[in-house]
Amino acid sequence: MKVGVIGVQGAVNEHIEATKKAMERLNISGEVFWLKKAEQLKNIDALIIPGGESTTISRLMIKNNLLDKVKDLGESGLPIMGTCAGLILLAKQIEGAVRDQRFLELLDVRVSRNAYGRQVDSFEALLKLTFDAEPFLGVFIRAPRIIEIFGKANPIAYYKDEVVGVEQGNIVGLAFHPELTDDTRLHEYFLKNAF
Ligand code: GLN
Repeated sequence: MKVGVIGVQGAVNEHIEATKKAMERLNISGEVFWLKKAEQLKNIDALIIPGGESTTISRLMIKNNLLDKVKDLGESGLPIMGTCAGLILLAKQIEGAVRDQRFLELLDVRVSRNAYGRQVDSFEALLKLTFDAEPFLGVFIRAPRIIEIFGKANPIAYYKDEVVGVEQGNIVGLAFHPELTDDTRLHEYFLKNAF
């Protein structure tokens, strides 16, 4: 299995390590690599878009000729997981985005950038997963808030009664950073679905 992590900006290495660990735990062999150029999209089985700064990631993806290609691949079924800024890239509606900035628009959610307020703009909290009884420690860093779900997106993670993670067919979007803990359950969940 070949998994690319979009590596133009943001928490790339952490995702590579977490994905490798998740593959080991699932007994899947393959490679996980830093994806910077459009040629590297060939033959990948899954793609991760990390956290970072969504405007910068979008601009660099356009510059590297990745944005339209990734959008096409996502529309034709390539499994893609986006975390934090990656979720913003995937969302169909974004509040607080820079005007005219382009995104992937693959996920039926409305997100609001940096919407957790100043005091708690970064925090950790135990989350409830829909597919596992054990709570998951969510690390939120200037995270986007999912303010609406419509169409075909389904919740997979909750903070209190608020949705912080969704899936829609081949796409997974998380407001938090699962790569910053040792808990690989969300990476495993994504890989299992991708397989
Ligand atoms: N605040 C960032 C943005 O709007 C996302 C933060 C993150 O990915 N940790 O792009």
